[in-house]
Amino acid sequence: MTAFDRISANLDRVRSGIAAACARSGRSVDEVRLVAVTKYAQLDWVRDLISLGQTTLGESRPHQLASRADELAAEPGIPVEWHMIGHLQRNKVDLVLPIAALIHSVDSLRLAQRISTVAVTREKPAAVLIEVNVSGEDSKDGFAPDELRTAWGELAGLSGLDIRGLMTMAPRVDEPAQARPYFARLRALRDELTACSDRRIDLAELSMGMSGDYEAAIEEGATLVRVGSSLFEGLS
Ligand SMILES: *Cc1c(COP(=O)(O)O)cnc(C)c1O
Repeated sequence: MTAFDRISANLDRVRSGIAAACARSGRSVDEVRLVAVTKYAQLDWVRDLISLGQTTLGESRPHQLASRADELAAEPGIPVEWHMIGHLQRNKVDLVLPIAALIHSVDSLRLAQRISTVAVTREKPAAVLIEVNVSGEDSKDGFAPDELRTAWGELAGLSGLDIRGLMTMAPRVDEPAQARPYFARLRALRDELTACSDRRIDLAELSMGMSGDYEAAIEEGATLVRVGSSLFEGLS
């Protein structure tokens, strides 16, 4: 099997999984967007994904995001939308803002303030999600829920910051169903923040679910699933 055929079969399998989870939870497939995480993929595989119509792509490191966006933009073909999904240092905001259609990983007030400053200078609002550490694990980035409640007024008031929703990573679990409570907690926090925000802020997006647990995340309301390894299974 060629790399293209494998990627095509993998993509079909993930799309079917998304459709099945939507069906189980009475949601429309249009409500869920697949972000193909390409951080471990060769650039040729990324080209394969794009030619298969998968044009929403995620990278977790700023320099790889920038170099790949540059390289693909120079080639004729279908336009793609890049999402920044990994930890972002404040000194990389200038590099990332012109490229990323959405930053999933705003994990501190200081980063949000830096993005706000750069966005105001560029005269273009930055679309972002706020990353929440719902499990409380030390290894994970993101606001603790209480920390986010405290910072919310200040975050919501930052100019140039277009907050579209929340993002989380569930802990590694043996069964995908065990991740559901963490996803449910993110959704509940989103509902709580929506209730105490002015109507200008629409927290429509919930970015949650990866290769091992995206179906469970969809059942709990995910609108963006970030899937990497499942798309590149059988390739090396
Ligand atoms: C790598 C990564 C993913 C994708 O993980 P897979 O298990 O390979 O699907 C999703 N989100 C973030 C933030 C990542 O860094």
